[in-house]
Amino acid sequence: MDSSSTMHTPSLDLDIAIIGGGIAGLWLINRLQADGYDCALFESQALGSDQSVASQGMIHGGIKYTLSGALTGASEAIADMPAHWQDCLAGCGDVDLREAKVLSDHFYMWSTASVTSKLTTFFASKATRGRVDKVKAEERPSVFQHPDFSGQLYRLVDMVLDVPSVVKALANNVKGRTFLLPPSQAQWQRDEQQRCQLQVNTANGPIVINAKQFIFTAGKGNGALLQQLGERTPAMQLRPLQQVMVKLDNSHRFYGHCLGTDKTPKLTISSHPCKDGKWVWYLGGSLAEKGVDLSAAELIAKAQHELQTLMPWLDLSGAQWATLPVDRAEPKQKKLVRPDKAFIGSAPGCSNLAVAWPTKLTLAPNLANEALGLLQHQNIQPQGSTADLSVLSALPQAGIAPAPWDNTELFTSPSASKLQ
Ligand SMILES: Cc1cc2nc3c(=O)[nH]c(=O)nc-3n(C[C@H](O)[C@H](O)[C@H](O)COP(=O)(O)OP(=O)(O)OC[C@H]3O[C@@H](n4cnc5c(N)ncnc54)[C@H](O)[C@@H]3O)c2cc1C
Repeated sequence: MDSSSTMHTPSLDLDIAIIGGGIAGLWLINRLQADGYDCALFESQALGSDQSVASQGMIHGGIKYTLSGALTGASEAIADMPAHWQDCLAGCGDVDLREAKVLSDHFYMWSTASVTSKLTTFFASKATRGRVDKVKAEERPSVFQHPDFSGQLYRLVDMVLDVPSVVKALANNVKGRTFLLPPSQAQWQRDEQQRCQLQVNTANGPIVINAKQFIFTAGKGNGALLQQLGERTPAMQLRPLQQVMVKLDNSHRFYGHCLGTDKTPKLTISSHPCKDGKWVWYLGGSLAEKGVDLSAAELIAKAQHELQTLMPWLDLSGAQWATLPVDRAEPKQKKLVRPDKAFIGSAPGCSNLAVAWPTKLTLAPNLANEALGLLQHQNIQPQGSTADLSVLSALPQAGIAPAPWDNTELFTSPSASKLQ
């Protein structure tokens, strides 16, 4: 600790300070620590808050986005990611994820009868590279064993993860380095060389954090952080969603996309274990994109109608329902198009600040690679010494965010008829 700088306020000098502990910040600090960088992460609420624990956990190689025909750049950019995650889960990757849980090692795509022929042609084409199998009737998952199902079901080898367990595994690898820092205790400032500094106000007094590089990985919080520093770029775009959660009494676990004629799947279903022993079906896709302006009751009614149309045999009696408004945060693109790779860019007005959005959970490893590339490019090397983090002992370590389906207050048990 150096007590001479910045008006006698004690300071802490780090190689890298990461702001925001979702999948992006946690993956990054794991990689930086392994490469010898002296780093710490500051989180305003709980690790995995906002998007990460609210995601559907699907780690995909891009196929979801290529139904329109051509193999696009998007799928090429993320094609390596499933194998990268698998190595990490097996303990032989660049990050140790052996403690994380895999919910499914595949997910399905199915179509309504109206687009079946298009789907069949697509999956028979070279573009799917033999990674997709048509599922025989006797091998269908339980929810599609019903004789009334008449569409086509395809199986993709991509996997689905239990994201809260991923967050926990990543946090455990960097114990003692992930601090809880509510915005009210954080004060951003700039020195004469246009380097940003973070003043942390603790019960023991203020501490100034200096870093060779600050990296903002605060998801939608990046916008407010940049604003506090008077920076406008890199700019952000938000993609609002309203997901639907339904706790079912039956035990069908299912992971898949129902494809309609749009680019976005009509409905994406993932199943997640809840602390009360039940399983939740978490519904996204077009339903969540188009449902942002509906009230919770209206969207739940729409979801019920969608499920009853797509799976008329599904017993929804006794189900508990909830919705979750949540924004996806991404780097700004022309016409709000979906970015197709992870983004990290320097803020022009601060010489030691970079801002990052992975744009997808899947792309967190890609983001860390890009960040390490940026540090190399700027010749920021590990300093080879370890700062004494005990100066931050007045800050608690950040906890792990609960999954949205464990927030029982959100759930209601209305019958379908009451909502329509
Ligand atoms: C409903 C939904 C479903 C999704 N499903 C998938 C999927 O199946 N597959 C896939 O690949 N991607 C999916 N995504 C996208 C994926 O979840 C996100 O791209 C990814 O989680 C973003 O991670 P992040 O770390 O950048 O941001 P976040 O997860 O949002 O984390 C940001 C963190 O920063 C913290 N923070 C905010 N402000 C501050 C501040 N001022 N100081 C300190 N900390 C701060 C927050 O509390 C939070 O912990 C989904 C997203 C949503 C919303």
